[in-house]
Amino acid sequence: MDTLRLTTNESDIRRAGEIIRSGGLVAFPTETVYGLGADALNAEAVSSVYKAKGRPSDNPMIVHIAYVAALDELVAGGIHALNNDVHKLISRLWPGPLTLVLPKSDKVPDVTTGGLDTVAVRMPSNGTARSLIRMAERPIAAPSANISGRPSPTTADDVLEDMDGRIDAVIMGEMCDVGIESTVLDMTGDEPVILRPGILSKEYISDVLGREVIYDQALLEIPDEVADPGKGVADTLFRPKSPGMKYKHYAPKADVVVITGSAERFKLRARELGLEAMKQGKRAAIIDYGDDANQAAHQFFADLRELDRQGYDFILIRSMEQKGKGFSVMNRMLKSAGYDVE
Ligand code: AMP
Ligand code: MG
Repeated sequence: MDTLRLTTNESDIRRAGEIIRSGGLVAFPTETVYGLGADALNAEAVSSVYKAKGRPSDNPMIVHIAYVAALDELVAGGIHALNNDVHKLISRLWPGPLTLVLPKSDKVPDVTTGGLDTVAVRMPSNGTARSLIRMAERPIAAPSANISGRPSPTTADDVLEDMDGRIDAVIMGEMCDVGIESTVLDMTGDEPVILRPGILSKEYISDVLGREVIYDQALLEIPDEVADPGKGVADTLFRPKSPGMKYKHYAPKADVVVITGSAERFKLRARELGLEAMKQGKRAAIIDYGDDANQAAHQFFADLRELDRQGYDFILIRSMEQKGKGFSVMNRMLKSAGYDVE
């Protein structure tokens, strides 16, 4: 299949909307990362998203909407059945990088939610994303527009690197502002639970709600498959392992390691490991954002892909403090390293 390159002009976005309406797949920019969109209410179209990405079919998708009223047909009992906390989050933080997990209506096909009885919904703030959803005249299911397991795409070229020939079209927009995926907040239980940390931090959302939001336990643990005492994972960062987070994530071709501790320690360790790599004929690169979590989020996936293109074998990442936005950035860094920390 030839993948169309579309601009962000109105006529091109209209065409992209028509493709979505007729069951096709279009990659498009959002403020977080590029999404791979399909008609969220068309089971066949959504299935083809899983195929194009090579994504396991029990990994649910986020449904994107352009106005609050569109939520009515997606959630059980309609908008009025949602509690005050949900209404507060919607009025304060939408549009923006916050995904809400809510009870799902019968209109949402099972494939869209990976068989769950909940649906994840987000209203993006990116203008192109919003126009596309309006032109498509239906909610758009969109995971990140990368091959499953690779770093998420934050530029149109990164999308094409993975998806050229596999999808109908790409809207060639700007680089994404935020650079990491949305905060996913489960609002179906007694307390709000963060399932995926994002640029809207736990502390910030707690402030908006006026009540404590908690992290899902799985975010504080090392998954079984990668937990290996020999790797020297600093145990102060994590509690004991548990299953969950079973899929490899955000991995470049290069080997990645996260180095914890002071700036001084990073410099020393990076030099030692870099020299070791050189002796084995390997090229090592350094990623160091200091304590700038916004910049780290914006650049991290793009940097991983760029270093892959330049053929580096080994990437040494300076860790960040796991607080606020730093927690969310470190979540991506640790996953990309397969939890190889020292
Ligand atoms: P991606 O589309 O690649 O950004 O991934 C979307 C993520 O949103 C999934 O991997 C889940 O972690 C989360 N998600 C989507 N729908 C649900 C749901 N109904 N319940 C819990 N998590 C969800
Ligand atoms: Mg993804």
